[in-house]
Amino acid sequence: MQKARHFVRKYPLSLLCIALIWVLSLTPFFPETPFDHVKFIDKWTHFVMYGGTCSVIWWEYLRNHQRLDGEKLFFYAWLGPVLMSGLLELMQEYCTTTRNGDWLDLAANTLGVTLGSVIGLLLHHFRFRTISLFAFSCIVSIGTLLLYNIPFFNYVASNTNESFGGRIFLLASLVAIMLVLNFMMTYLVMFLTRMVGRILLAILAIINATAVYFILTYSVMIDQTTVENVFNTRYSEASGFFSWALWLFILACGVLPALYCLLQPVVYGKAKKLGICCGASLLIVLVIAAANISQTLWISQHDTELGGLLQPWSYVVNTVRMVSSQHDEQAEEIRLPDGHITDNEKTAVVLVIGESARKANFQLYGYGRDTNPLLAKRKDLKVYEATSCATYTTAGSKAILEPKNTDDLYEVLPNYAFRTGVDVSWRTSNWGEPPIHIDEYLTNEQLGTLYPDENIYHDGILIKGLRERIESSKKNKVLIVLHTSTSHGPKYADKYPKEFEVYKPVAKNVEEGEKHVDRLVNAYDNTILYTDFLLDSLINTRRSLEDWHSAMIFISDHGESLGENKMFMHGLPMKMAPKVQYEIPFLVWTSEHFRRYKRSSAKQEAPSGQLPAVLEQHYIFHSILNLLSIQSPAYNKDYDIFELEAE
Ligand SMILES: [Zn+2]
Repeated sequence: MQKARHFVRKYPLSLLCIALIWVLSLTPFFPETPFDHVKFIDKWTHFVMYGGTCSVIWWEYLRNHQRLDGEKLFFYAWLGPVLMSGLLELMQEYCTTTRNGDWLDLAANTLGVTLGSVIGLLLHHFRFRTISLFAFSCIVSIGTLLLYNIPFFNYVASNTNESFGGRIFLLASLVAIMLVLNFMMTYLVMFLTRMVGRILLAILAIINATAVYFILTYSVMIDQTTVENVFNTRYSEASGFFSWALWLFILACGVLPALYCLLQPVVYGKAKKLGICCGASLLIVLVIAAANISQTLWISQHDTELGGLLQPWSYVVNTVRMVSSQHDEQAEEIRLPDGHITDNEKTAVVLVIGESARKANFQLYGYGRDTNPLLAKRKDLKVYEATSCATYTTAGSKAILEPKNTDDLYEVLPNYAFRTGVDVSWRTSNWGEPPIHIDEYLTNEQLGTLYPDENIYHDGILIKGLRERIESSKKNKVLIVLHTSTSHGPKYADKYPKEFEVYKPVAKNVEEGEKHVDRLVNAYDNTILYTDFLLDSLINTRRSLEDWHSAMIFISDHGESLGENKMFMHGLPMKMAPKVQYEIPFLVWTSEHFRRYKRSSAKQEAPSGQLPAVLEQHYIFHSILNLLSIQSPAYNKDYDIFELEAE
């Protein structure tokens, strides 16, 4: 008993790790993780788990002992874990039905345990000298500045209009403030929470490294929308971003500093010293801030960018912001005033929401490549100039479906049409749309069970069986929304069937795309070619529905950067975003003798009754109400691309 208690006190983390291994080894199923696509991921997991556990055992041993007892360590920190892993493999094979034992797992475990022992020996050899908390906080503060905040200072240096001297003064002030604040926070957190503080610093180091990698590689800023996108992106898509360069970067700039934070022995000192250090830090910050009071305006003008580059501020603050704003959005959507359908004519409207499709790469808008060979032949296709309201999916798809530009959540088009009596179906291979409350919401996986021969990762699955679906409707008005993901990056080459690989060679992964932008563009153009095929097939389907009025509308949620100025993907704040991230295709086809189009003006300020030269996404809501003959107080005829029937 005495011995057991002694053991728990001296080896709490080791025991925790061992318990974790047992739980993970014997749970029947595993949730999806971002790493599922990595080769030999199960072997890596074994290696890391056993290596980590063994290192922890060594570390806790070294904390409690000055001298090494080789025999004991061999039995408890090497042979013991190896035997345990053998036992677990046997149990997986013979005592569970869902897991299997594997000799190679045992080999990976043994390798991991051996590596852990080597780390342990190294730890013993280079035992950290104990330092004061003051010194530790200084090291962490300087490290944070050098490892994670260079992009921040780079931004300041290249965006201020100050003279050379003024620039140096501003930079020096910011460096000093950052050093002092980081120092103070580290001191406080470590003093107050000890081990918890260490773990917190270690986690921050790893996230910091990841954030800096994305800032450097994709020229993004970590603002609220970036954080939202991270939380809204499905694991399987996010895994497209994981590359060897990222792992190496995280290892060097995240894991090693994290280990330092966990392992460095520290003398915490007295509370009085904490008071003095914090007081002095605050005083220094105040003095420097006062000396830079003339910069307030400049800083407030650039606050989003500065905040987005400052680690760990960027994601900590923006995660808090996101949670609080999501809390606000939890509120019920605002109901629109009731509408009603005014005629009995059979009408089918298909709205296709594009993903990251940018105008610049559409032949229909003058692109140099024939990326729209089928649509370009159609005389009855309307091609509008348009811009998106945002540069990321959640806001772009919301803008397409809502009646007006607003931060509030109004009843969106499918919900409203459904409530008014339209037969609405939503088919999606994407996500991030506002909440949809209709009877038929089908994901590509669900469609895959209906059409097992189709590849669910290509958007052709979304138009499968659509004609039968429309013809079998019991209602006169049908609205189908297809939320596609056809040009979703960064692995564009995975988004279309082989026969659409017309532009070659294509970039298969992120690194290749960064090095060879032309290959990335090839892959992207193939996705547009596939989009062309899908839209054209949709129009053909609709044509064959003879006793139906029908329409097909295609609009993208936002654009995409393909390496211009070293920018990739999308998601920059609107005021900084390049045109390619918000100039989008907007294509409309209607059957003969359906609605008449309004005239387009050459100017953005159009005379009444005409359309402006460039449209925005809110035209969709009102134009589709018109097509479905829904009369409603929510309808605004200025935002309708068609003439009203009665007029
Ligand atoms: Zn999108």
